[in-house]
Amino acid sequence: MDFTHLYLELTSACNLSCRHCCIGNEPRRELQHVAELLESFSEKGKYITLSGGEPLLRKDWVDIAELTERLGFTTTLFTNGTLVEENVEALSKAQVKVALSLDGADEAHNQALRGPSYKKVMKAVDLLVEAGKEKEIALSFTPTSLNVDQAEPLARFAVSKGIEHFHVSLLEMRGRAGGTDLELSDDEKVWLMKTLYELARTYEGVMNVELSEGTDLLYDTWNFGKKIMENPLGKTLKVTAEGKVFTSTFVEGDLFFLGTYPDRSLDELMNSPKVEELAASLRKRGEVIIQCRECIFNPLCCAGICTLAYDKHKTIWVPDEYCKANQAIFEIALCGVKK
Ligand code: SF4
Ligand code: SF4
Repeated sequence: MDFTHLYLELTSACNLSCRHCCIGNEPRRELQHVAELLESFSEKGKYITLSGGEPLLRKDWVDIAELTERLGFTTTLFTNGTLVEENVEALSKAQVKVALSLDGADEAHNQALRGPSYKKVMKAVDLLVEAGKEKEIALSFTPTSLNVDQAEPLARFAVSKGIEHFHVSLLEMRGRAGGTDLELSDDEKVWLMKTLYELARTYEGVMNVELSEGTDLLYDTWNFGKKIMENPLGKTLKVTAEGKVFTSTFVEGDLFFLGTYPDRSLDELMNSPKVEELAASLRKRGEVIIQCRECIFNPLCCAGICTLAYDKHKTIWVPDEYCKANQAIFEIALCGVKK
């Protein structure tokens, strides 16, 4: 498989302690050998995500962003927004898209999950918009049981600021989020996906609604499963701050673990037989999982996203955790059914 997207956890350090953080209380580490990693990836790779922890805590983040530009990558920097003000000049010059995390359109909702970041994120949005960067901002929202109702107000807020990307990061039940009651119920998932789909239709041409696996909710519904397996963000390598390399951004189990950088070269890791074995297994999920095999939406869904299921059940041989929600969207897309 040709990997096109490299997701780098530049640091595990963060200045917030969000309740739903999938990194949690790991020891503070900074990813080493970043320049070598980027250079090794530049032959085939196209997309880079700079994340953390909080990537703006790294003193050399500007050098790293400049290098990704020189190497011709399309780069997105994921930040909690609290350090944008002191970095705004560098951010407006850098050729990076900026994804800002906000989990409530009002301070109380955001604070319940993220602590005291609301005012700083609001300021960050205004500063980046003033710097003419609104088309390069994404608003990143993680729906949980505490803030699922914020989907609509947040989307409206994004549109009011001219932001064109509403990024929905589905909750990963690891790190600090693991074992909490933040997970959405099936009914909440159905409501959320229907709401997001309606938002995508309402704001078509103005703002895209994107799921964390890289699918565009409106345009990818017809070949959802195929997109998940084939889209650029599906061909992802993640390198944690510790140097551990996984074949997916959103899961860290043994099944997806390729080895540690720089103990093994990036080429060696990308060409590990484990990569093709896993890809072959993923292609079979739609046929092997009985519930999926018998599902009328199988041709669209192909058993959907496996990573959230793996996080929870430690196996990929179960349907997508958003199965019922996917079905609701497919019904609307195919038949215009609204319930
Ligand atoms: S979710 Fe992001 S901002 Fe919040 S503690 Fe974790 S790394 Fe920091
Ligand atoms: S909608 Fe559910 S049952 Fe149907 S293929 Fe997708 S995950 Fe499987």
